Amino acid sequence: MKKNKSNKYTNHTLIRKNILLWYDQNKRDLPWRKNKNPYRIWISEIMLQQTRVKFIQERYVSFLNRFPSIKVLANASIGEVLNEWQGIGYYSRARNLHLSAKIILTDYKGRIPIQQENLKKLPGIGNYTAAAIGSIAFDENIPALDANWIRVLSRILNFQGQIDTKKSLKYLEECANKIISKKRPGDFNQAVMDLGSEICKPKKIHCELCPIISNCLSNKNKTSLLIPKKKKKKERKLKTFFQFFAEYNGKFLMVKRRNKGLFKGLWELPGWEVEGHFLDCSQKQKKDKLGSFFVGKNISTKKIIEKKIHLTHVEILFVVFKVSVNSMDSKVSEGKWVEKDGLLEEGISSAQKKIIDYIQEQKKLFKI
Ligand code: SF4
Repeated sequence: MKKNKSNKYTNHTLIRKNILLWYDQNKRDLPWRKNKNPYRIWISEIMLQQTRVKFIQERYVSFLNRFPSIKVLANASIGEVLNEWQGIGYYSRARNLHLSAKIILTDYKGRIPIQQENLKKLPGIGNYTAAAIGSIAFDENIPALDANWIRVLSRILNFQGQIDTKKSLKYLEECANKIISKKRPGDFNQAVMDLGSEICKPKKIHCELCPIISNCLSNKNKTSLLIPKKKKKKERKLKTFFQFFAEYNGKFLMVKRRNKGLFKGLWELPGWEVEGHFLDCSQKQKKDKLGSFFVGKNISTKKIIEKKIHLTHVEILFVVFKVSVNSMDSKVSEGKWVEKDGLLEEGISSAQKKIIDYIQEQKKLFKI
């Protein structure tokens, strides 16, 4: 029986070789690429979830200086970890890192497990992160399919399906398994990620610089910009946070958010959230809420800011009222009067920090 001859578009050896050659000459100099220490790789992969490489480079170095090993991380308090994570966003990642460090210390004698199934049992580690850690730190032969990998692969194959379906992902995973370098799986995963972020970008594609241009079916068919195809995006949820800015003697009241939902366990201005966007609340609602936070009658309020903050799945309108209080008494059990700089000692979301910075800015400008 005659064997099917592979052409240059299906020649995996050629694609593999050209991608790795390009990576060896062009790889980005990133702090987590200095060595294959599994702890360093793990921290980098968690930080990179939903955050840009450029943004985390310095924060990564700082985090490792503060928590140089699993043991140090596991023995730190969650407050210390959240404090170091401040501004990076998606704080559940910091909580999961802390929790996982404790599990690794107790159940795996302080060593990050090699087996994929054990890695995936750790909080915050899904298929992609387990594959990235496995391939980069332990040379496991698994493609770590992130958005870059999927885009590059879809374009090489001129894949016309919608990539956000289980069936498509399964197909792309099978193809990736055939293409990945068995000798250098970690490098190959990182090479494709680099190729996707530097050359095969979502909109600005630089095919002329691409090491696999002659193996790329979408380039041949002039369809690269139409790939990958996706289902229509869901609209972002709208929320309004009504909040009180109560200042007394240069300090203002912050409260700890309940332990579930958006921004769980983080510190924020006292207030409440509602679905949808509203520029004001009812007088009764405001009075009831004031009564639940502050002591005293006839406390006056004045609206000082309205500002929208966009997160990945939600758009929040912050409406903040300044509250004139006569003392630091409050009815909140988990509340603290803090100075602006004192905030740095606590975990707050980057959205709330932006609002507080904005209030301070408006105060200076308009003496509100
Ligand atoms: S040739 Fe163009 S579309 Fe194809 S993989 Fe390279 S950069 Fe992407």
